[in-house]
Amino acid sequence: MEKRTDINRRRTILHVDMDAFYAAVEQLDNPEYRKRPVVVGADPAGGRGRGVVSAASYEARRFGIRSAQPISRAYHLCPGAVFLKPRFGRYTELSKKVMAVLDEFSPLVEQISIDEAFIDCTGTERIFESGERIAKEIKGRIMDETGLTASVGVASNKSVAKIASELGKPDGLTICPPGGEREFLERLPLRYLWGAGKKTIERLARMGVESIGDVAARGEEALEREFKKSGRSLWLLANGVDERPVVCTHRRKSISEEITFFPDTRDTMFIEKVLFEISDRLTRRMRRFGIAGRTVTLKIRLEDFTTFSRSKTLPHAVRDMKTVRALATELFRAFYDGEKRVRLVGIGVSNLEQQEQLELFSEDTPRDAERLFDAMKEKYGDKITRGSFL
Ligand SMILES: [Mg+2]
Repeated sequence: MEKRTDINRRRTILHVDMDAFYAAVEQLDNPEYRKRPVVVGADPAGGRGRGVVSAASYEARRFGIRSAQPISRAYHLCPGAVFLKPRFGRYTELSKKVMAVLDEFSPLVEQISIDEAFIDCTGTERIFESGERIAKEIKGRIMDETGLTASVGVASNKSVAKIASELGKPDGLTICPPGGEREFLERLPLRYLWGAGKKTIERLARMGVESIGDVAARGEEALEREFKKSGRSLWLLANGVDERPVVCTHRRKSISEEITFFPDTRDTMFIEKVLFEISDRLTRRMRRFGIAGRTVTLKIRLEDFTTFSRSKTLPHAVRDMKTVRALATELFRAFYDGEKRVRLVGIGVSNLEQQEQLELFSEDTPRDAERLFDAMKEKYGDKITRGSFL
């Protein structure tokens, strides 16, 4: 139990939030809308439309347009904006890519909306060196996978991390050092206080409270008198204390690694060597996440872009390099006839089970996962790129 308390005290929590998500996706898919005010939401019907704004690009925000505003009001603020109907299918598709990126960094990912999640990276920061480094890496990976920007907040708890990501928008990276929470929040206006309800904030405003620091300064007892039970949590939040855990919202279904060759190759020795390195990297990540799996899948794409997968399911879950490598090699040999050149190979493991608790992270070797890839780059030059599949 003591161990857990210790971990709670030193948590590293990231809040990742996509910037103006729906509007940014529209600008990504339609280059002609870039740099223009874009409003996604109900039909404005020339200013008589009903319904609300779902998202506004940063260009539209300059006109005072905000999400949840009546669409008619948005129209009056900027009649020349690009008004678009939401395409939820497309947003969901990109959202999944974002969440898959987050899954690479920790098994503890809590998705709180289509474009927002908390990640508890406690323990993993020894591998990735620091919360800041993880945040940078996540931003880069999201950009690579989706072409979109995200803002990230890093803090010792959820409330402060959420506020931090908000402060840096767009394309931000804001860090609150552990121990500096109260100072960090002190001068911020009340609306930033995440976790306090709208009514509570209105009531505080009527009491003459303007900043989060003012709430903290009122003292616990005064707030309890005014707000009963929620007074204490309000006071704690204003002091930058929030012990709510990051709750895993989606079970990881599979874990994978893949490599693309430049140029395509028929060299089976080389391909098998790469499968060996992929197995090493993949099983290392599995051990770091405390997971093992029963099904090993080989993915192979040929020069004409036809893609195949071959799987084998075992009676028990595995995660040791030798077994995964042996299965992948066996599947490769059974499949490949050497006729067409190979463009890409990958290994995935599915039917996963969690084998340890999070604590074990920190006991893993502090080897940077990226280092293997760097070593491979050095060895094989630009003949490879990495990615993930499934
Ligand atoms: Mg967002």
